Parts: sequence; structure tokens; C-alpha cells
Amino acid sequence: MMRVEPSVSKPAPQFGRLALIGVGLIGGSIARAARGLGIVDTIVATSRSEATRQRVRELGLADAVVDSNAAAVADADLVIISVPIGACGAVAKEIGPHLKPGAIVSDVGSVKAAVVRDMAPHIPPGVHFIPGHPVAGTEHSGPDAGFAELFINRWCILTPAQDADPAAIERLAQFWKAFGASVEIMSAEHHDLVLAVTSHVPHLIAYTIVGTAFDLRHVTESEILKYSAGGFRDFTRIAASDPTMWRDIFLHNREAVLDVLGRFNEDLSTLTRAVRNGDAETLYNLFAERRAIRRGMIQFNLGTPAPHFQRAEGEAQPEPLPRPYAASNDD
Ligand code: NAP
Repeated sequence: MMRVEPSVSKPAPQFGRLALIGVGLIGGSIARAARGLGIVDTIVATSRSEATRQRVRELGLADAVVDSNAAAVADADLVIISVPIGACGAVAKEIGPHLKPGAIVSDVGSVKAAVVRDMAPHIPPGVHFIPGHPVAGTEHSGPDAGFAELFINRWCILTPAQDADPAAIERLAQFWKAFGASVEIMSAEHHDLVLAVTSHVPHLIAYTIVGTAFDLRHVTESEILKYSAGGFRDFTRIAASDPTMWRDIFLHNREAVLDVLGRFNEDLSTLTRAVRNGDAETLYNLFAERRAIRRGMIQFNLGTPAPHFQRAEGEAQPEPLPRPYAASNDD
């Protein structure tokens, strides 16, 4: 695995024409960051609905907003597809014949192996396909939700094929690095397992516990709201994430999620038995062991440059952005 150090210094333009297909939280954040930093000469954007395209015009997120994916990619040097995972294959099929030789095509999907399977057959020879996943987000959606600083101190994972052009990988890595992200390169399959453990299954647990609490509302009445200042509030925030995105994640990362869920269920059964049996020793030992893991993780994150996929507790806030970049966020 290869790591590229983050940077927030103002870089020179890296690409001529950037095409953005899909301008929601992620596409909208890329547009704002790329514009603010001036790392592309021109941004051409499109979105599925006229309502979103109109909003992108109003927000001034692109130099041109066009009505079709084919028109967006014409003459583009870098194409980034920021639509739900399940739509990536159809978009790739549509744009394939219109891509410029030498262009780089990437995506931001939260699952990689399925996206590669669906997109790669439609990318013509001579065009570089470098899949990507910025591990950054919020529970909000749409072009208004995007902000330029979203990627600062976050990871962006690239999952190129083994025979991908190293120069194209490096160009895309530098693009993400300019946004303040660190770049990691790994296989699509490894990405999907890592994200199943660190993101997908935790989201499934959040969805479950929020549903369980809601089912119990006749018992607990307003107490769910009253006492939700603790961990439960975080669960409700996570459970407020976009349902289309999360549906697609579980449809497309099924094997890795089932693998992790199987292990999780076994561990939960052990804990359930200990609670039912009043097994103080097992409970104490288990909690002490987990606490040691947590403390080890924090030390690991702060003490080494190894990937940790989220901002560590106590980590310093990101450096202020250069003026043009910061100003773009006020648009
Ligand atoms: P979003 O805010 O909901 O925006 C989605 C964009 O995709 C909009 O432009 C939307 O167009 C378009 N779209 C929706 N359904 C489509 C379809 N069936 N065909 C073509 N276009 C469609 O979503 P987002 O949060 O930016 O997520 C986009 C991608 O980023 C997803 O693949 C997700 O896995 C990945 N991602 C998300 C996060 C996160 O936290 N949100 C983090 C990392 C990666 P209209 O508005 O015109 O309908």
C-alpha cells in the first residue's frame, strides 16, 4: 500500500477540464474545493434532474451545467462520477463512447469491487479508469450540503487495477491531496472488507438500535428524546444518512458485510450469554480487553502515520485554508 502525505498549500492547475457527473454532497464538495483552489481550468457539471442542475447553476458550482452525461464528458481531462453506487454502471455505459483518449475517469462510490465490475467494461482503451472513495461525508445530501473542506485530513482510497498507468494514478492522487486528503492505494476487495468493518456494519448497527428504540417508544414515551444526549444521539445522526446510498452499499458489498456480521453476531451472542447469566468475570474481562484495544488505537493513530480512516480523538483541527479556498465556502 502506498501513502501520499496531505497538503493544503495552493497548487497550480492540475487538469484542464473537469467533468462532474452527480453534484450532491460529494460532487458539490469536489466542485467547491476544485474551484476554490483553482486546480482545474474549467468545471462542467451535470446531474440527473433539472431541479439539481438548476440549483448547481444558482450556487455557481461550475463554469457550465449541461443536460447530459455525454455532453459533460466531451473533451474532459478528468471525469468524476458522484452518483449512487447502483447507477455507476449505467453512467459509465453512457459516457464510454464520448470519453477523450488519455482522460482519467474516477468515481467516489463507498463500495469498490462492484463499481469496478459495473464500470470497467464500458471504459474504452486509452482512457484511465482509477476508482476512488473519499472516506468523508455527513448525513446530508444534495448540492447545498457540499463544502470545500470536507476532505481535509480525510482519507481518499484509490483502487486502480494492477495494470493501471502509474502516472494517471499519481495525477489523481495529487488532485485529492490538493484538497487536504491523504491518499491510500489498495485493491478493491481489500477496500470493501476494511470499509465493511469500519463503516458499513457500524451503520447497520445504528439503523438497528434506532429502530429498536422506536419500537419501544410506547414504553419509553418521550424519554428517548430526553436522554438521547449520549451515544444514542450519534446513532440517530448516523441513521439519518441517505437511504439510497446505504441501500446501495449493502446491495453491493454483501459478501464482506455478511462476513463481518457473522463474526459480530458470534461476539454479541457471547456478550448476551454473559449478561443473561450474570457472569461478572466474563463481562469485566471483555470490557477491559475492549478498553485496551481502544487505547491502543488512539496511540496508534497519533503516534504513526498509519491509516485510521477517521479523525482521531483530540486531533488538532485542520489548518485554515488559503484565502481563495476558504472564500469559496461562503458562496
Ligand atoms: P447525494 O448528495 O444524494 O447526490 C447524489 C447525486 O447523484 C445527485 O447529483 C443525483 O442527481 C445523482 N443521482 C441520484 N440517483 C441517480 C441515478 N439513479 N442515476 C444517476 N444519477 C443519480 O449523494 P452523495 O452523498 O454525494 O453520494 C454520491 C456517491 O458518493 C455515492 O456513490 C456514495 O456511495 C459516495 N459517498 C458518499 C459519502 C457520504 O457520506 N454521503 C461519503 C463517501 C462517498 P439528482 O439530484 O439530479 O437526482
